[in-house]
Amino acid sequence: MNRKLLSLFIAVIMAVCTFAAYAAAEGNPEWMPAEWDMNADVVVVGFGPAGAMAARSAVENGASVIIVEKESREFAGGSAATSMAFKGVFEAKHLYESGLGRMTMEEAQRMYDLEDDCIQWLNEKGMEWQNSAVVGYGRGFYDAVVKAVETLDVQVLYESPAVKLISDPVNKEVHGIQCKQADGTDLFIRANKGVVLATGGYAANKTLLNRLHFADMFDYAVTGAPTQTGDGLIMAMDIGAALDGVTTQQIEWYTFSFKAASDEMGTGIVHTPPALGPYSHIFVNTKGERFMDEEMRVTHSKCQMPFLAYDGTHPVFNGYFNLPMYVIFDQAMFEGGPVGSHDGVCTYASLYGIHNWSEDNQAELERGWIVKADTIEELVEKLAAQSGNAPIDAETLKKTIETYNAGCAEQKDAFGRSEFMLDPIGEGPYYAAQIVPTIAYTIGGLCGGSNGETLDWYGNPIPRLYHAGDIGQPTKMRISALWGCMALGSIAGDACSQLTSH
Ligand SMILES: Cc1cc2nc3c(=O)[nH]c(=O)nc-3n(C[C@H](O)[C@H](O)[C@H](O)COP(=O)(O)OP(=O)(O)OC[C@H]3O[C@@H](n4cnc5c(N)ncnc54)[C@H](O)[C@@H]3O)c2cc1C
Repeated sequence: MNRKLLSLFIAVIMAVCTFAAYAAAEGNPEWMPAEWDMNADVVVVGFGPAGAMAARSAVENGASVIIVEKESREFAGGSAATSMAFKGVFEAKHLYESGLGRMTMEEAQRMYDLEDDCIQWLNEKGMEWQNSAVVGYGRGFYDAVVKAVETLDVQVLYESPAVKLISDPVNKEVHGIQCKQADGTDLFIRANKGVVLATGGYAANKTLLNRLHFADMFDYAVTGAPTQTGDGLIMAMDIGAALDGVTTQQIEWYTFSFKAASDEMGTGIVHTPPALGPYSHIFVNTKGERFMDEEMRVTHSKCQMPFLAYDGTHPVFNGYFNLPMYVIFDQAMFEGGPVGSHDGVCTYASLYGIHNWSEDNQAELERGWIVKADTIEELVEKLAAQSGNAPIDAETLKKTIETYNAGCAEQKDAFGRSEFMLDPIGEGPYYAAQIVPTIAYTIGGLCGGSNGETLDWYGNPIPRLYHAGDIGQPTKMRISALWGCMALGSIAGDACSQLTSH
């Protein structure tokens, strides 16, 4: 080697060493943690059915996987664990149609086939069926999911909610997540290939619900899992993710709940007429007027909800004119059986034994969750004291009851209530309570590409970010639910795990 070449060689070596020393001194960019605590090829956020199947497909592609879950093992499972785990009969073309242009027929068919594949896998791992539902309903389903995932080489970190995506502020590329551990310390997990968000919906996040749907706040209860706080949605929005399908039609309503009871117990305590009747109850607004068929099937309905009727005629004071709302019922119904959610009703309260309504309604009467009075005048006064709202006009309420009872006698109801449910309200004593619209879960949220990529507002995928499940379903109108969420998880986990590591 001549002297010129030698000095060039030395210069190059020195430049490389200088650069390496400089890079080492600089460390990670300031938006990244100084050190990662753990790493995996694919980091899945949320251990519901969507997250579970994302993990499964990633592992099957040879990727290392960490799932972080907000709850303890006992309370994990979000909506899945509280669900009925009922499987409707759908075909691929129904998924395609409900996608409203968001997927091709081939993509719908892939989703349909993957639903089946996930079910077969869970069946092989011991999931059992009774007719069209999983044995043990949502709990049984979720236990089967956990058992199946535990046969895989997947690390699950319970009680480790993800709080932030670590992403490059310039190109948004996702490098990992920040979690909070039970003792309050941070845990930074690097995702070599990418992150799949599967944190479920946002039904239990009042701020999001109001900002995205109901600018005028109103009281409502949630019967589904309280984990549905839209964490993943917020983390993704924080780095520029777009929203899709965030409409009132993507809210899954679930009957009505007693307000006082739900507030006290921190979860929806549902009002149900006694299983075998009588159905001698009506719902009234603050004016004391009826406004709906009380037996209308609100659960899963995508119809315009009567309680959302909105008075927009006043230049300043607009609002929902049927809210707050109340249930009024008689002694016969009080004696007919539990008027609140009892064993077997699919709610978070029943599932975790938070409250099972008494057989004779007495315990709830004593707790003040329902009020009793001999006359309508006394009833509206007690109701006002219980709810904190202005009293209902007693005279209007009396007339409403008269009109309703006359309809019962003629077997013809002004709001189309079926004859079978038309039981007149008898003489006092009367019973009443404020009830609130109730949400089970939401399915709108993030906007996804065909492989579960999370898109920004310009329609571009956010590098290395995927999502699946109730955090943003491409099919609308709840058609996919549990089974579709698993298919979406499989798709996202598969695509994410095929990326090259960075
Ligand atoms: C009352 C009720 C009845 C239902 N009945 C049916 C039915 O019969 N059939 C059907 O097909 N579907 C049904 N569904 C719908 C179905 O349960 C959901 O569509 C499905 O569970 C959604 O799955 P997911 O994985 O997206 O979310 P989830 O099941 O909600 O799971 C999300 C998981 O993410 C975790 N998580 C949340 N935030 C974080 C965070 N920050 N960090 C880490 N983890 C986090 C949660 O704790 C949870 O474990 C029902 C739902 C409800 C509420």
